[in-house]
Amino acid sequence: MNTVDAVVVGAGPGGSCAAAVIARAGYRVALLERGPSPGSKNMYGGVVYPRMLDALYPRWWEEAPVQRWVTRRSTMVLTDTQAVTLDMRTSNWGRPPYNGATAYRPDFDAWLAGKAEADGAELLCATTATGLLRHGSRIVGVTTDRPDGELLAPVVVACDGVNSFLAKEAGLHSPVDASNYTLGVKETLRLGRDVIDERFGVRDREGVDIEILGVTGGVNGGGFLYTNLDTVSVGVVLKLTHLAAQQQRPEELIAHLKSHPAIAPLVEGGELEEYSAHLIPEAGVSMMPQLATDGMLVVGDAAAMCLAAGIWLEGVNFAMASGMYAGEAIVEALTAGDMSAVGLAGYERRLERSFVLQDHRKLRNVPGLVLSDRVQHQYPQMIANTVERMFRVDNPLPKPGLRRIFTEERRRAGVKVRDLARDAWTGLRGLG
Ligand SMILES: Cc1cc2nc3c(=O)[nH]c(=O)nc-3n(C[C@H](O)[C@H](O)[C@H](O)COP(=O)(O)OP(=O)(O)OC[C@H]3O[C@@H](n4cnc5c(N)ncnc54)[C@H](O)[C@@H]3O)c2cc1C
Repeated sequence: MNTVDAVVVGAGPGGSCAAAVIARAGYRVALLERGPSPGSKNMYGGVVYPRMLDALYPRWWEEAPVQRWVTRRSTMVLTDTQAVTLDMRTSNWGRPPYNGATAYRPDFDAWLAGKAEADGAELLCATTATGLLRHGSRIVGVTTDRPDGELLAPVVVACDGVNSFLAKEAGLHSPVDASNYTLGVKETLRLGRDVIDERFGVRDREGVDIEILGVTGGVNGGGFLYTNLDTVSVGVVLKLTHLAAQQQRPEELIAHLKSHPAIAPLVEGGELEEYSAHLIPEAGVSMMPQLATDGMLVVGDAAAMCLAAGIWLEGVNFAMASGMYAGEAIVEALTAGDMSAVGLAGYERRLERSFVLQDHRKLRNVPGLVLSDRVQHQYPQMIANTVERMFRVDNPLPKPGLRRIFTEERRRAGVKVRDLARDAWTGLRGLG
């Protein structure tokens, strides 16, 4: 039986950052990954916000495997025939220290795991953690599917993603509630670098991130479109319970998105390279498990730390940050020789002081708002009709004025003033 100081399960962004911090402090850490290489099993929409790496790998941008630097962010509200777009571009994000970047997960995760290895972590690929080892109530290692089987350690870090069976086996999660999850599906379409530059109005390594509302029909959710160097990622995020009830296939909904008059000119002719799907823990703090127990911490998606709140879809940065904080807390606990939940309490303290729990708390009502029927089915029509009428020239009639148009369109969409005020307050408080 092998013994190390810490076992980290899952070489996604959370696991690699946790392992790097522990290894740097001189402790022996095993980083287990079930895939043949880090990232080989992982998918996401496509934009990472790596500023969290500033402390761990200064000037990370000189070596990280980035496709494009996001310099243009758009939020689109669509109806079947209309599109209203808030479009922001800044060249400030196209130079160090940058903001967001599109990246392929197999490249990004492999790079980050390679950095953890360079820091001294032992990366074991094609190795699945199959269960927890216990001594009394304390977790003391994992069983694996390797011939040499068990791996003992005073602390296990569950970085095994959204379905974390380790956190479930440890009894840290409440029973699964399907309404807390969305299903993300995406197509990667090859278009060629010049075509992307021309269609999206960018050049060099500039990239575009488009978040889309109102395009998923009867299934509440949203869409996205991101530019890589010579491909685009286009996809939808769908409320799981609605998807099952509506009996619509995700690929039909992506096809619907791709055929929209505002999207088709951007993606047509694209050659399908990859189709992938993955669950997203959507409900934020309300679905987070207990984060620590004797001998174990839970990190990233395994702890439902992905922030999926409408205009924000961030999980990689939350995973990297929670991984780093778990690593720091473990180093502290190893030094003090106390791997109980009390000894590991530095993890939650750090999360509370950082954006990880502060953003989640601030935005706690936003995921529910964004996926609500009003935002999904009534507001897009109300917004698009209001803007369309604002710009319509109905001569010989005079301009009706924004207040009148808005009131008429609000009524036509069946939106009550009280509900609108409440939703605006929830949204603004989240932004606040
Ligand atoms: C459609 C979609 C779009 C998204 N878009 C974005 C986006 O644009 N930007 C963003 O920041 N986030 C996005 N996210 C969220 C983001 O992908 C996750 O929040 C992030 O990957 C979480 O990182 P993690 O390290 O916690 O888990 P993961 O990345 O899921 O990594 C878990 C790792 O553990 C391994 N593993 C699992 N079980 C075991 C086991 N038993 N033994 C060994 N290894 C195991 C897996 O193979 C995997 O490598 C998106 C997600 C989806 C589904």
